[in-house]
Amino acid sequence: DIFEYAPAPESRDVVDIRPSYGLFVNGEWIDSLGDERHKTLNPATEEALAEFSYATPADVDRAVDAARKAYDSVWGRMPGRERAKYLFRIARIVQERARELAVLESLDNGKPIRESRDVDLPLVAAHFFYYAGWADKLRHAGLGEDPRPLGVAAQIIPWNFPLLMLAWKIAPALACGNTVVLKPAETTPLTALAFAEICRQADLPPGVVNIVTGAGETGQALAGHEGVDKVAFTGSTEVGRLIARSVAGTRKKLTLELGGKAANIVFDDAALDQAVEGIVNGIFFNQGHVCCAGSRLLVQESVEDELLAALKRRLATLRLGDPLDKNTDIGAVNSAAQLDRIRELSDAGEAEGAQRWSPPCALPDKGFWFPPTLFTGVAQSHRIAREEIFGPVLSVLTFRTPAEAVEKANNTPYGLSAGVWTEKGSRILWMADRLRAGVVWANTFNKFDPTSPFGGYKESGYGREGGRHGLEAYLDV
Ligand code: NAD
Repeated sequence: DIFEYAPAPESRDVVDIRPSYGLFVNGEWIDSLGDERHKTLNPATEEALAEFSYATPADVDRAVDAARKAYDSVWGRMPGRERAKYLFRIARIVQERARELAVLESLDNGKPIRESRDVDLPLVAAHFFYYAGWADKLRHAGLGEDPRPLGVAAQIIPWNFPLLMLAWKIAPALACGNTVVLKPAETTPLTALAFAEICRQADLPPGVVNIVTGAGETGQALAGHEGVDKVAFTGSTEVGRLIARSVAGTRKKLTLELGGKAANIVFDDAALDQAVEGIVNGIFFNQGHVCCAGSRLLVQESVEDELLAALKRRLATLRLGDPLDKNTDIGAVNSAAQLDRIRELSDAGEAEGAQRWSPPCALPDKGFWFPPTLFTGVAQSHRIAREEIFGPVLSVLTFRTPAEAVEKANNTPYGLSAGVWTEKGSRILWMADRLRAGVVWANTFNKFDPTSPFGGYKESGYGREGGRHGLEAYLDV
């Protein structure tokens, strides 16, 4: 049990947030050379949690230099079994501090504590354990002869799973012998900064992990830095394109994990009560701030009425509110900007003629909130059927035949994930074979595991994170 060591309860008191943070470079907290400081907010209350720096290009230079020195002098030459010890140590410290980190994540991000505690944190620890196990077995990974690290990895992550995205990036990079400079998103820097302390606690050699906070300009300086050998980016397709352009023509290797518009496809023979749970989990987990969210429900026409009635009954039971309350199902939207985007696209849905429905749901006065929302009568041409909303908004479309389901599911520039609900095993295989998506879930949704590769087709990006394939992104063979 991951919480074997972790103290209860899930309260604000278990976290120790400093009023102000510097940058974590070469194992030390340093002040930014610039003077741009910002506050990170608790999106459920709009209260400022802490102040942090927007790192300048000169700060990024210092971080990349530290990572290069650590790579050349220690980490790049260390035997895999030694690196593994550090990764196991980090994994255990994450376990010991899991409750504190879960509370910190919920405060900074707005996600329900039940999710950060039961999903994010166990997966963070699991990724470090999993990749610790690979560190001394890279020659046996079947990737080719004489695997070698790439060098210094620049890693840029989004705000929806701040610590988990960090783990997806840092664990395989370190296991393969790379050093890293990581930039968390500007609305959720706190767990990455807490992770810096964990690196110190684990006695990780200075410079192996460096954390620079900031927004797009810091990210640009990092991805564009000449001293970087590899760029790993998770975020929007729009920024992914900019990064791909900046990396083109350089020696850098690149992996991109971008947006999605997944179809959750329900056939008339599916166990509808289970499908309802899967639909809810697919789009309302983490307020829909999930790249692989099942944001389009494709339901077979013959069960549309029955399924929608059951879904509405279920939505009426969802509890929205205080992310630190263990009974909360839907927390706060991460930022005012994201709330604006969700509102704008939902308004466009109505304007284009779809019917909007939400259960009766009182929204708190302070903070950023959006009720669980369902759109029916959605056409494939509507913006809410095409664009990633990244919020708790489900667009419902219908189909008659499996071929039509495939055609509609694939009718998107994205290709990250899909879900299929049917009792027919042969149909699952038939569909999975035709869906252009990196992950196809059968009779479940939003399930993650460090042993499984994850990543997109088409404009959802390229490269895989997780599993043995996740090593490829950080090795030359
Ligand atoms: P975003 O692209 O705006 O920002 C992501 C990160 O990039 C942040 O750290 C940001 O500061 C940084 N950034 C912004 N502009 C930059 C630039 N020009 N150069 C370098 N870095 C820059 O995305 P977001 O709003 O933070 O996250 C939401 C998006 O992330 C969604 O589209 C979602 O689908 C995607 N996402 C994908 C995955 C996946 O695995 N495929 C996982 C989580 C989120």
